[in-house]
Amino acid sequence: MVKEILKLGNPQLYEVSEPISKDEAEDVKIWVRDLHDTLMAYREEYGAGRAVALPQIGVKKRLLYMYDKKPYVFIDPELSFPDEERYVLMDDCMSFPGLTVKVERYRRAVIKYLDEDFLPREMELEGDYSELLQHEYDHLDGILATMRAIDNKSFYMQQMKRDF
Ligand SMILES: [Zn+2]
Repeated sequence: MVKEILKLGNPQLYEVSEPISKDEAEDVKIWVRDLHDTLMAYREEYGAGRAVALPQIGVKKRLLYMYDKKPYVFIDPELSFPDEERYVLMDDCMSFPGLTVKVERYRRAVIKYLDEDFLPREMELEGDYSELLQHEYDHLDGILATMRAIDNKSFYMQQMKRDF
């Protein structure tokens, strides 16, 4: 089901989410379906959106959903960084469409997580996937890209198109 995406300023976005236990397996199926439907609806409307975090639809649990040709479910993810190399990029978020923020992220990351069957998995990430999952992971700790802005001039508003 398509859910409402909480928007910048909603206090729920700044809360730390809780781990998921195996007896929530049935809930996980529903959450994943809702995240998928919500992500696809957002893409339809805005032509963007690669991944979404469960707290963005108001559920305070540690689950991320990414769709890139196929679905990826990350339950209770943990991130680590093999080296210090970072880079600067323009970040956006489904919680503030139209606004981009200049941030710095690690070039490489390793994500350890449970998949939708609660099996432990690990992925090495570089570039796009790395910065994306750092962004999504932050949502689980109540951190938004706005809070990672390099400085207070790192915010860019896109021109909103209107049909007259
Ligand atoms: Zn986001």
